[in-house]
Amino acid sequence: MTQLLLATRNAGKLVELQRLLTAAVPGVEVLGLRDVEEYPEAPETGATFAENALLKAREAVRHTGLPAVADDSGITVDALNGMPGVLSARWSGRHGDDPANTALLLGQLADVPDERRGAAFVCAAAVVTPGGVERVLEREWRGVVLREGRGSNGFGYDPVFVPAGGDRSSAELTPDEKDAASHRGQAFAALVPVLAELLGQ
Ligand code: IMP
Repeated sequence: MTQLLLATRNAGKLVELQRLLTAAVPGVEVLGLRDVEEYPEAPETGATFAENALLKAREAVRHTGLPAVADDSGITVDALNGMPGVLSARWSGRHGDDPANTALLLGQLADVPDERRGAAFVCAAAVVTPGGVERVLEREWRGVVLREGRGSNGFGYDPVFVPAGGDRSSAELTPDEKDAASHRGQAFAALVPVLAELLGQ
C-alpha cells in the first residue's frame, strides 16, 4: 500500500484528504504528523501561501522519506490590501489566538463600509515526492467580512466570514457544507488528480 504523509496534526484535514483520495487513488493510506516520528517543524517564513505549503511539504519529505502534502491558508482582505494573508494565524501577535486575531481584524475594518468588505479565504496545497517532484496549486473562497461574529462551527475567522452567494457565516455552515465549498476543500479536490498521477496508480 502506498503511503502519503499529510503534514498536519489536524484530524479533520486527514479525514477529508483520505476521503477525497480513496475514490480517485485506491490503495493510498494518508498518514498525519501524529503517525510518524516527531521532527522539529520550521517556522512558516514564506512570503506567500504557496511558498509556505512547499516549505512544509519539503521538510516532511526530508524527515520521513514519504511523499508529502502540505497546505497553508489564511484570509486576504481587500480593504487591507490582501492582509492578514500569510500572517493570518498570528495577526494579533500571538500565534493561533483566534478571538484576538478576529477582534483586531474587526477593529481595523470598523469604518469600512459594507460595499468594501470583500475578502477571500485562500489555500495553497503542495505535494513533494522523495524523487524531488514538486507541485503546488491555490484555490480561493470569496465572501465578505461581517461586523461581528456569528455561529460556532469551524475555527479562526469563520464566524466573521460570509461566503459569496449565501447569508450564513462559514461558522454557521455544517462541516460538510464548508468542505464542499471552501478554499481548502477546493484545493484538496484539485490536488487529487495530481496525486493520482504522481503516485502512479
Ligand atoms: P494554517 O493554514 O493552519 O496555518 O492557518 C492559517 C490561519 O488562517 C488560521 O489560523 C486561521 O486564522 C486562518 N484560516 C485558514 N483557513 C481558515 C478557515 O477555513 N476558516 C477560518 N480561518 C481560517
